[in-house]
Amino acid sequence: MTGHAPNARSAPPEREIRSILVVGAGLAGFGTVRALREHSFAGHVTLLGAEGIAPYDRPPLSKELLARTTPEWLAEDRRFDLDAAVDDLRLGEPAIALTVSDTSAEVTSSAGTYRADAVVLACGARARRPAGWESALTLHTAADADALRAALGTSGHLVCIGAGWIGGELAGVARAAGHQVTVIEAGLAPLAGVLGDLVGGRLGPWYDALDITLVLGTPVAEVIDGRVLLGDRRAVRGDVVVAAVGARPATDWLVGTVPLTPSGSIQVDGGYRVLDLPPHVIAVGDCADRLSARHGWVPGGHWDAALRGPEVAVRTLLGVSDAHADLRADLAPYVFSSQLGHELTLTGLPRRGDHVVLREGQPGWAALYFAPEPRRGPRELRAVLTVDRPRDVAAARRMFRGAALPIASPRIAADAARDLRDALSQ
Ligand SMILES: Cc1cc2nc3c(=O)[nH]c(=O)nc-3n(C[C@H](O)[C@H](O)[C@H](O)COP(=O)(O)OP(=O)(O)OC[C@H]3O[C@@H](n4cnc5c(N)ncnc54)[C@H](O)[C@@H]3O)c2cc1C
Repeated sequence: MTGHAPNARSAPPEREIRSILVVGAGLAGFGTVRALREHSFAGHVTLLGAEGIAPYDRPPLSKELLARTTPEWLAEDRRFDLDAAVDDLRLGEPAIALTVSDTSAEVTSSAGTYRADAVVLACGARARRPAGWESALTLHTAADADALRAALGTSGHLVCIGAGWIGGELAGVARAAGHQVTVIEAGLAPLAGVLGDLVGGRLGPWYDALDITLVLGTPVAEVIDGRVLLGDRRAVRGDVVVAAVGARPATDWLVGTVPLTPSGSIQVDGGYRVLDLPPHVIAVGDCADRLSARHGWVPGGHWDAALRGPEVAVRTLLGVSDAHADLRADLAPYVFSSQLGHELTLTGLPRRGDHVVLREGQPGWAALYFAPEPRRGPRELRAVLTVDRPRDVAAARRMFRGAALPIASPRIAADAARDLRDALSQ
């Protein structure tokens, strides 16, 4: 069992909240405004963004990089009038400082200072670009996507550093458009940092099948004008070099005010309240690590949490009490990806050293991550990866809805002819 604090219950706020400041106009910031108004919050809402454009969805930036030249606007897609919902909408005004008192919060932006009864930090993340890689492009924003499209042109050789979620998607899309593609990965397999070497190793042949050069176990030392210098002194030259080595929370501006983890995340409880700060300071989306009663610390970084987290965060903030919703509020981590001709979902959180059981059968396959135990028999199931296997996706998500991790039989789970949920212990 993961012995963590139970999810915080929604309790009525000690004082009425009349004004709310939302920092970050991405998916989580947009969803926060929407949830506030759906819960009939009639007070004043300010939304600060940094990109100077309306909120949009990021997953299409990689999956449809070359097919789609305008962002997928959230207001259109979700049919929600953001302009009407926000009293003070400032999309190109990044916050630079936060001050928190017992009863309010004050945010200073590049253009002014705003005070409110509560603040929601939804400032997301930024693509990582290590020192010495300054000439590499990244893919996190709509502007990045524009720059990358322009740089690739019609025939450029793409060198992608990192075979993670975004590296795999980008490599596949560029290759499908006829580009020569080389992917350089420090780990021993694609996505090994998340899925482990054994399961990640099953993804390697996908690159071969598309004639993408995959260089494994090779850290990059430096990127100089299209030349990628490898740790073993070799060099790879490309027309375009992209660093796809993860993201870091965009929380530099909070240093000294909000406690941050070494990786820059804001730690929040199950109700998205920031630990060690007054309850009117909330953080949600990619910038937050949430303490889940079921999974332990759940890092931000994935779309589903930024989509569904704001509803829970807003309920906490407004003290909307719903005992039935409390259990559902402990969202299971969920990632999806379309890459190299395959559809992946990952529900739950795999850990290093987990006992991996493969579930092979047409169509596709799945990998189940069990807590390691010396004895045979049912044990805690920590995560389920599905690959081209839609029939297991809903079952996997349902398995992670209880108060604790499900207990399941590895032997039954390995039998792809049976329903995945047959593996659950009663
Ligand atoms: C190319 C790409 C593809 C992806 N594909 C998938 C996928 O297939 N599956 C999946 O699960 N996840 C995917 N993700 C991750 C997913 O998009 C994110 O988890 C999600 O967008 C997080 O939303 P967010 O609102 O928390 O953060 P963000 O989307 O990062 O939005 C935060 C916003 O806050 C702004 N901001 C930052 N600092 C400040 C400041 N100081 N003041 C004001 N505003 C600020 C930023 O400019 C940004 O607009 C993908 C991400 C990328 C980049």
